[in-house]
Order: sequence, then C-alpha cells, then structure tokens
Amino acid sequence: GTFTHTFDTPTFKGTSTINTGLFIGGQWVDPVESEFIDVINPATGKVITKVAGGSKADVDKAVEAAKKAYKTAWGFKVHGRVRGQLLSKLADLIEQNLDEFAALETLNTGKVLANAKNMDIGSSIQVFRYYAGWADKIQGKTIQTDENKLAYTRNEPYGVVGQIIPWNFPMGMLSWKIAPAIATGNTIVLKPSEITPLTALKFASLINEAGFPPGVINIVNGYGSTVGQAISEHHGIEKVAFTGSTLTGRRILKASAETNLKDVTLELGGKSPTIIFDDANVEQAIKWAAGGLFFNMGQMCTAGSRVFVQEGVYDKFLEHFTAAAKAMGESAGDPFAPGTGHGPQISQTQFDRVMAYIDSGKQDGATVHIGGVRHGDEGYFIKPTVFTGVRPDMKIVREEIFGPVGVVIKFKTEEEVIQLANDTIYGLASHIFTENASRALRVAHAIESGSVWVNCANAFEVGVPFGGYKQSGIGRELGEWALETYTQIKAVHVNI
Ligand code: NAD
Repeated sequence: GTFTHTFDTPTFKGTSTINTGLFIGGQWVDPVESEFIDVINPATGKVITKVAGGSKADVDKAVEAAKKAYKTAWGFKVHGRVRGQLLSKLADLIEQNLDEFAALETLNTGKVLANAKNMDIGSSIQVFRYYAGWADKIQGKTIQTDENKLAYTRNEPYGVVGQIIPWNFPMGMLSWKIAPAIATGNTIVLKPSEITPLTALKFASLINEAGFPPGVINIVNGYGSTVGQAISEHHGIEKVAFTGSTLTGRRILKASAETNLKDVTLELGGKSPTIIFDDANVEQAIKWAAGGLFFNMGQMCTAGSRVFVQEGVYDKFLEHFTAAAKAMGESAGDPFAPGTGHGPQISQTQFDRVMAYIDSGKQDGATVHIGGVRHGDEGYFIKPTVFTGVRPDMKIVREEIFGPVGVVIKFKTEEEVIQLANDTIYGLASHIFTENASRALRVAHAIESGSVWVNCANAFEVGVPFGGYKQSGIGRELGEWALETYTQIKAVHVNI
C-alpha cells in the first residue's frame, strides 16, 4: 500500500507519498504473512497509517537477495570509489528531500521539527558523506618478518549484515548503521523500529534512484519478536549490529550464541553522570546539563540523568537548573510549531514506563523538585522532571528511565564523585564541568564510560568513535572504528 500525507508546516508544504511495503531485492513487496502495524503520532495518540510488518519468511527472502547481491554485484566486485559514489548520491537525495524527511520524522516521533531537521536528517547526510569518503580507503597492512616471507592483511566484508535500530533517532541510527557497512562492501538487511518506520520507508524509495544494485540494501519493517529475532538467529547473516535496550541486546547475543556465532555489535542503554564542580562556569554548565538531560524528551542513550553537583555551587545550580526545566516544560506543544522546545514521549508504553518511574521515586521518598506530571490531555507529553533528596539505591538513580527525568545529587570531593559516577552497571557517557584542565582530564580518565564530554554534552562528531563500557555495549560505531566493526581481517602468508 501507500501512505499519503499533506503537510503544511513552516518548512514543508506539500504531499508526501511513501510505500508502506517491505523493500527487498530492490522491489516493494507485500509481507508473506499479511501483518500490518499501526503507526501512531505521539503528539496526538492518533493512528497515522498502517505499514507492513514482516515475518521470518520475509527475512529469509531479504537475506537471499542480499547474499545474491553480495556474490554478484557488490563486495570487492565493485571498486571502493563506486561504493563511495553511491553513498554520496544517497546523501544528495536525502538532502534534496530534507524538509520532507524532517516533517515525516516529526510526525512519527513527535520530536521538535528543527531538531528532526538538524539532528536526525542533517546528521544522517553528514554520516553518508563521511563514509562515502572512506569507501576507497579501506587498507590492510603488510607484516615484515624475513626476506623470504610476505604476510599481509585484508579487511574483508562479512557479506550479509543484519541491522536492528531503535525509535529515538530513526534516520540518525539508520545512517550510523548503513553508511559504514556499505562503505566496507557488505550488503544489508535492516529492520527499523516498528514504532518509527516512516523515514526508513522514504529512505528505501531512494535506494534504486541512487543506483544501488538490487538486494544491496533491504529494509524489512516488523516487530522485534519476529523480524528482529529472525535476523539475530539467521544462519545466512555473519554480523548483526544493534542499537536499543540492554535487555534486547542480551537476547541478540544469546540468539547469536545459539545459532552461528555471528559477530555482534551492541549499542545499549546508559545512566550517564553529569558532574559539575565548584570551579565550573556554572551558567554554561546549567545550559549544557539541561540540554544533556532533556534533549529529545530524555530519550537519548547518553542522557545525563544523574546530575552530581559540588556543594559550593549546589544551591545556585539547582535554582537555575529547575528554572531551565520549567522553561522547557512551558515550551511543550505541537512539535511542528516554531517555538516549541519539548515534544511527547514516543508511545503510550514509554509514557507509562516513565510515569511509573516517577511514581517509584515518590514512593521511595525522593522529592519532586519540578515536573512529575503529564502535560496537556492529548498525546504522550511529560513535563521535565527533577528529583532531589535521593539515595543511591533508588530505582530512579540506578535504572535507565529514557524520559525527561533526572536526579540531582550533592557531593563534596572529586574522589567521592568519581566513585558515585562509576557506581552503575552502565558506561556509555559522562559529562564533566570544570575550568581546571588538570581536574577535567584526571576525572575524564577515571570515569568508566566510552565517551566523556568536558564542558559540553551529547556533542556527537561523525569522526569520533562512540560505544559503551560495561553493560552499555560491545564494539564501536562512527569514525574509522566503524570500518573495523563491519570488516573481518584475513591474514595472508606467502612463502617467496
Ligand atoms: P528495544 O530494545 O525494545 O528496541 C530496539 C529495536 O530492537 C527495535 O527495532 C525492536 O523492534 C528490536 N527488538 C525488540 N525485541 C527484539 C528481539 N527479541 N530480537 C531482536 N530485535 C528486537 O529498545 P527501544 O525501546 O526501541 O529503545 C529504547 C532503548 O534503546 C533504551 O533503553 C536506550 O537506552 C536504548 N538506546 C541505546 C542507544 C545507544 O546508542 N546506546 C541509542 C538509542 C537507544
């Protein structure tokens, strides 16, 4: 089927028509077993459209198509320069449709239009261009032993790669997955989140136009328990890359362990610390800390959801941080409207989950400093929420909430805050605020997390690696590190 929607937004006035089927082998197809999934506008709670949901049989078809493409028309059969040109073309096509993509993303996710445009779609264009540049620069090494021997390495693609992505940055996550895997010569079966398939479907419609041979990129929408599970168990897939919750990450690793031991890269949850020292530029720290926690309605794996503030600046920080949360709450509304700063949570399920965490905080005796309630009576809006008076054992301090909810905790010494910050099963990111360069580096090195931001928050760069310590994940994305994620090394020994 197709989905048609007429937008009348400040940046995009026009009609968007997208195919709601599965994109397999360069063609739109219906699912083998007919299943249709409601797509909901989280700002209103109303159904936007229905899209096809696949099953194991569709994943089998997609893997077949991807395998055939890999053997006949892709991998090292194609010069890296050509793979790069096709990625570049994709970037151009996304850019030509930038405002339509942004409108679709906002309709489906409820995120503020300007953020959808700059963060999701804008950054995805950068990512495609960045990896277009790498495609002809995949290099092995030669290892010199003695005069009569030659050994060298080749970074070879896995073949068919499975990719499973979440709903919080639909196009952003799609680009992080697809661009490096294509640059390195793999073919792909990607499953978008069943909650946010619209931009992935729009993207699928550009794949043939960019000139990719059929079967190189296949997009199979569907539920995690069917399509996701089938990808992670598939014997024809040698590598799976996933972004989402730690629970699902465990399931994928287990599916790999019980089938063909496919290589697994996981980007999982977090409970990232934001640390503000007495010697910080407090005005700047407040601004970054509020953005670091509330951006994208807190639906960010790196969200600075545990805010540690040194005693000398605690009162000042809390006063202004609360004011920032209040202002953010007051900017809640229609995500298409200019001036809106805060949209809804993604779904009824996430809304209920976040509200249950707020209740648990209250029941455990924490103080709701601001927020703690829904906004409006339509859609899944929750006001930015700050808790104080927490203990380290509370669920709101230990577990990832994935909503606009944070805890503010007072500390005395650097030593103490390092211990508190590391007291978590997660290790995705951390944010440190101090004007003392030695302290900044000392703490950055002592924190157990894959990313550390000093005097800023959530500032992603396509050339800089991203990934988790501890239970926040396995492997790295972005930069040249993603090239290793999508290649396996072959060592060739030659007796001369
Ligand atoms: P989720 O794990 O439920 O879903 C993510 C994806 O996995 C979806 O496409 C879903 O359909 C699929 N899935 C679900 N069950 C599956 C299964 N059994 N087998 C295979 N696939 C399955 O998470 P979510 O609710 O979509 O996203 C929120 C979570 O994702 C948060 O916990 C957040 O921390 C995490 N996240 C992490 C990062 C990161 O980069 N580390 C980024 C975004 C989100």
